[in-house]
Amino acid sequence: MTPEQQQIRDLAREFARNELRPHAEEWDREARFPREVVQALGELGFMGMLIPEEYDGLGLDATSYLLALEQVAWGDASVAVAMSVHNSLPTQMILAQGTAEQKERFLRPMARGEWLGAFSLSEPDAGSDAASLTAQAVRADGGWVLNGAKAWVTNGGMGDVVIAMCRTDTPDDRRGAKGIGAFILRTDAEGYLVGKKEDKMGQRASETVGIAFRDLFVPDGQVLGDPSMGFIYALQGLDNGRMGIAAVALGIAQAALEHAVAYAGERKQFGRPLRDFQGMQFKLADMAVRVEAARALLVQAAAAKDAGEPVTRAASVAKLFCTETAMQVTTQAVQVFGGYGYMKEYPVERLFRDAKVTEIYEGTSEIQRTVIARELYRA
Ligand SMILES: Cc1cc2nc3c(=O)[nH]c(=O)nc-3n(C[C@H](O)[C@H](O)[C@H](O)COP(=O)(O)OP(=O)(O)OC[C@H]3O[C@@H](n4cnc5c(N)ncnc54)[C@H](O)[C@@H]3O)c2cc1C
Repeated sequence: MTPEQQQIRDLAREFARNELRPHAEEWDREARFPREVVQALGELGFMGMLIPEEYDGLGLDATSYLLALEQVAWGDASVAVAMSVHNSLPTQMILAQGTAEQKERFLRPMARGEWLGAFSLSEPDAGSDAASLTAQAVRADGGWVLNGAKAWVTNGGMGDVVIAMCRTDTPDDRRGAKGIGAFILRTDAEGYLVGKKEDKMGQRASETVGIAFRDLFVPDGQVLGDPSMGFIYALQGLDNGRMGIAAVALGIAQAALEHAVAYAGERKQFGRPLRDFQGMQFKLADMAVRVEAARALLVQAAAAKDAGEPVTRAASVAKLFCTETAMQVTTQAVQVFGGYGYMKEYPVERLFRDAKVTEIYEGTSEIQRTVIARELYRA
């Protein structure tokens, strides 16, 4: 780590320790997202970490961003996933494909944390096979009219800007993945409808909603890039997004490891602390090795991104390994706590629930393996 990267990581750790960790249990219990925290993260510059300074961002490298995101997740995974989606997907997609006017209009308030961003690809019948989505955009005078339903949008109700993928091909000329556009939507637009908030197993404070478009008019100025390339832009965005989710998972795993180490030092059975038993030492050692290996893979992916190299494979490798590590390490942490680990009074119970979804969203573990295998055959 460079001194600057270390400084950013320490700042994030401090923020997580003081502002997130003390409230994580309550936010989870109440399933309430602390919108005010986004404002505070914005003041630190953490909502525009990858946005250039000319648009009010910090213009940092991916390594700094991901190390900071891990720390935020160490404090609260729900806040971290909101930060991850915002920093990795909509802002990066606008930065990569947006016009000068779109960057000026959207990136500034997003970088400052005044506008929270979301990404909407999935639909009730189009998850892993996202290119089969059916929400339809129809050409109109000066823009497009959107109709259809999207599923499970993180930040989709309380957020301000959503990049939504909709079909731009016509029913008599279907073009599959090449017939999809990406639209920059304001959530207060007429025809943007928000469904019920999902009642989830974990990351309960994070807002996940279904949304629907009813004759939602989107002016041409809010179409991202080429209107037939939206699915490709979404996949490019997901390369960044998957590194973000890897960092979120890593933060959860690190927190679980620390709790397990501390508990095994305190809890006595057979007249000795649990840590004195070799069976326990092996368990803790295996957990620590998984976490370190996961971090190494994430840093490797971040370094590739910073070097301007293609990251599809590295991002999927990091996402797969970090998220499966989070599930394994939190499972073992509950085991270390024994019966207490199963109780809501102890944080490992929440961490265990928070870990699971990282293996599902932004591409399931099966889809990551599919991507990695495909990349093995690429020249
Ligand atoms: C809390 C949460 C937040 C989310 N946030 C967002 C968001 O902000 N934006 C967004 O667009 N989406 C979001 N999603 C949706 C998420 O990306 C999808 O749930 C995910 O892509 C999987 O799709 P699916 O749930 O329809 O599962 P399915 O695609 O139906 O898959 C079901 C099972 O089949 C497996 N499977 C599917 N295809 C294959 C295959 N070819 N080979 C082997 N196995 C396969 C899957 O791996 C999985 O185990 C969110 C989901 C959740 C749970």
